[in-house]
Amino acid sequence: MTPVLVVGAGPVGLSAALALRAHGLPVVLLEADREDRERPGSRALFVHRETLGLLDAMLPGLAAEITAYGRTWHTRRTLYRGREVYSRSFPPPSGPPPFTSLRQTDTERFLRAACERAGVECVWGARVTGVRTTRTEVRLTGEDGRVWTGAYAVAADGARSAVRRELGIELEGTHGEGFHVVVDVADVPGAELPLERVFHYEHPGAGGRSVMRVPFTGGFQVDLQCRDDDREEEYGTEEAVRRWLPGVVGDGYAERILWVSTYRFLRKVAASFTDPHRRVLLAGEAAHLFPPFGARGMNSGIADAARAAEAIAAGTGEAVAGFAEVRRAAALFNSAAAGTALDHLRPHRRTVRVRQRAAAALAPVLPWCGSWLEHAPYGPRHGAPAVAGRTY
Ligand SMILES: Cc1cc2nc3c(=O)[nH]c(=O)nc-3n(C[C@H](O)[C@H](O)[C@H](O)COP(=O)(O)OP(=O)(O)OC[C@H]3O[C@@H](n4cnc5c(N)ncnc54)[C@H](O)[C@@H]3O)c2cc1C
Repeated sequence: MTPVLVVGAGPVGLSAALALRAHGLPVVLLEADREDRERPGSRALFVHRETLGLLDAMLPGLAAEITAYGRTWHTRRTLYRGREVYSRSFPPPSGPPPFTSLRQTDTERFLRAACERAGVECVWGARVTGVRTTRTEVRLTGEDGRVWTGAYAVAADGARSAVRRELGIELEGTHGEGFHVVVDVADVPGAELPLERVFHYEHPGAGGRSVMRVPFTGGFQVDLQCRDDDREEEYGTEEAVRRWLPGVVGDGYAERILWVSTYRFLRKVAASFTDPHRRVLLAGEAAHLFPPFGARGMNSGIADAARAAEAIAAGTGEAVAGFAEVRRAAALFNSAAAGTALDHLRPHRRTVRVRQRAAAALAPVLPWCGSWLEHAPYGPRHGAPAVAGRTY
């Protein structure tokens, strides 16, 4: 049986390979990097309940494995200039948790092990540079001249997707101004910070910049929102982080920094999620780029992967066209939701900041003001007609 080719062994490619195996299809997974590569950094921390459900359908038991390793907290807090404006603790659910938080590298470790168990054939050191499709197959060429032929290909080769480029599909959208610094910090054993997610508007300890802290297994991630005129070398290097981190999380962590990175808010969606022959299906960051707030990147990529596998298993051009239409609509919804979050986080209009300040002042007497400050940074969750019943 001609295999399905999957390009890229990031979380989306690994999920696509697993989902295809769950449909009983042979899979060859092509990854540019070597097998012993290191992928540092927490990056996509949240694996949402919906995603856990999709992963469990790909390999029963996988969600329980990931959840047992990750961390789930039941308290969320929001502060404004040093004062708490929202705090809510939820009782632990009796069923599956609403999410679990673990570093992306750990999620990938679970997915890789699952792919091995499911019989996915992985080819490491296989950088795809050429793509040719016909009505019946797809041929991929590696940089070293190797050729792979498949019935279909899932392009999960990330933001700089060579497959998308070779197919001549444009990424359309915008990028925001300014940058964020993201830092992973290891817990101090025996003196862990409370297990809660905290968003702090205009943190006095960070010169009035907004800061988010999110726990993961073994540590926590700090996200510092820099101003448009901040310079990366003043905030985004490890040396710079050592200077501002104590003002945000207290002393004793500057020597426990695991990873530092900066990112910009990109909102881009591919003009099409498939080629004219309906043989290549774009998934994950090959198809769309969203800012991390709202945890839409990896979660929506795994939803793409599940849907791509369904379409390939159906084996018709209509099914692939349906995949492309539904997942592109979902991506456009996610992009718009991220834009709403961005207008709140990096407002261009003064009135937004004035409303935030007024909401913070009123929060003690009008709880919905605190609730608005709590939820707005992540954008709306529901409402996309094309993804009815789904968050991503
Ligand atoms: C700082 C930061 C924070 C983030 N936070 C979040 C978050 O909180 N929540 C969230 O959901 N997402 C978050 N993301 C985004 C998340 O990391 C991505 O959405 C996720 O990695 C996308 O997965 P992917 O599999 O589509 O692409 P990638 O992870 O980029 O994987 C692509 C794979 O393809 C391989 N590849 C590339 N080119 C080729 C080629 N030509 N041939 C073969 N292989 C190739 C690459 O080596 C790689 O293994 C964050 C990202 C960053 C940088």
